[in-house]
Amino acid sequence: AEALLEVEELRTHFPIRSGLLQRVSGHVKAVDGVSFQVRRGESFGIVGESGCGKSTTGRSLLRLLEPTSGRVRFDGEDVLALKDEALRRKRRDMQMIFQDPFASLNPRHRIGKILEEPLIVHGIGSAAERRERVARTMETVGLSAWQLDRYPHQFSGGQRQRVAIARALMLEPKLIVADEPVSALDVSIQSQILNLMQDLREQMGLTYVFIAHDLSVVKHFCDRVAVMYLGRVVEIADKRGLYREPRHPYTKALLSAAPSPVPGAAAERIVLQGDVPSPANVPEGCVFHTRCPVAMDVCRSQRPPLKIDGEGHGTACHLYP
Ligand code: SF4
Ligand code: MG
Repeated sequence: AEALLEVEELRTHFPIRSGLLQRVSGHVKAVDGVSFQVRRGESFGIVGESGCGKSTTGRSLLRLLEPTSGRVRFDGEDVLALKDEALRRKRRDMQMIFQDPFASLNPRHRIGKILEEPLIVHGIGSAAERRERVARTMETVGLSAWQLDRYPHQFSGGQRQRVAIARALMLEPKLIVADEPVSALDVSIQSQILNLMQDLREQMGLTYVFIAHDLSVVKHFCDRVAVMYLGRVVEIADKRGLYREPRHPYTKALLSAAPSPVPGAAAERIVLQGDVPSPANVPEGCVFHTRCPVAMDVCRSQRPPLKIDGEGHGTACHLYP
């Protein structure tokens, strides 16, 4: 299928200011040269530990954070070149869901008002049409129209995430970037929300970028997955390739740490030594070499590019030339 989203060499760096004069003394390279494509109708996972740049990547795609360089093409348009009004219009088609729905829903507004707001902002429909659409969307996400007069605190965590999904759906987007949408929920509720998102994808032809910190959450949900480490994609593959034949030592470690490792993929648990280095001080060579259990000399000086094979399985590691 055709690509809905094409990301090329995306970089989002933040200046570090220090001293009395607040001079720029360095950069946090939160996202440092990320490339991937997401096909129409696909669920694409981005996975990595906290601080790997996955959330910054998600926000940069929608320009909720301004990228430093690179290219983002969405539905045939160069997102990074869009000016204010054109960007605002484009955002109708690209919506975001966050980990903590409570923080993203105004506690002083009733749910009805929260859901109607995007329609008002974009000048869509008459008051009656908007109310109709709000009620319909509530039902689409498994809530009832009678709950529209309630406030966010009157909903459970899972229901609040349903409201957040409803809000994201109000403008009938093509793409939803979901940043750890189930991480804050009980395990029993997680699968309900994932099932809902899966149903919506089929019903509404949605495409997802699904950000998660662990590979088990995206395993059933995503068609393809990119594993990030220190601002870079270290491995990218379809689900089968990634879970059955993980290649990058970091992916293998992540899989071995998961609660139910895939048989054969990681026979024994790989425990990584040390901490993730600071993205303000990225190691030379392979970004993973300070923790890699199989690092070689070349890894300390030469950065392995992401090499993609004929099956679309990409690995950034000197072991896969
Ligand atoms: Fe490990 Fe070297 Fe591969 Fe990096 S390039 S993951 S350090 S083996
Ligand atoms: Mg995050």
